[in-house]
Amino acid sequence: GVGKSSILNALDTDFHLQVGEVSTALGRGRHTTRHVELHRLSCGAEVVDTPGFSSFDGAELNLELKRRLPETFREFAPFLGQCRFVGCSHTREKGCAVLEALRKGDIQKSRHDSYLRLCEELKPLQDWQEKK
Ligand SMILES: [Zn+2]
Repeated sequence: GVGKSSILNALDTDFHLQVGEVSTALGRGRHTTRHVELHRLSCGAEVVDTPGFSSFDGAELNLELKRRLPETFREFAPFLGQCRFVGCSHTREKGCAVLEALRKGDIQKSRHDSYLRLCEELKPLQDWQEKK
C-alpha cells in the first residue's frame, strides 16, 4: 500500500528530512484510520493521512481523497474554483486555472509533478469505484 512516508515524499521531495517531526505530530495508532485527514504542521507543510490503499473499504475515502487532494497543495489554493470545468482534475483540462498558473510560473513544476504522481496513485481507487 501507500504509506505516509511515500505520500509525504510525493508531496515534497525534501520531506524525508522531516519525517520524525511528522510522526510526532500525528502520533501513533493512526494506521487504522478509515478516512482521510489533513494535517497542517508547524513547519507549514500539510500532510494527508490515509489508511493504506489496500485497507480502505468505502467510496467515501475515494471521494474525499479526490475532492481534497488539490487543497493539500497550498499554492494551488488561489486558483481552485477558477477552472472552467467543475470537478477539474488540474491534470490536463483546457481552461484549468492551476495549469495556467503552472505555465505562468506561479506554481512550481516540481510541485505540480508531485500532484500528478499522487493523482496516478489514486487512479486505481477511482477505477475500482467505477466498476462498482
Ligand atoms: Zn483545474
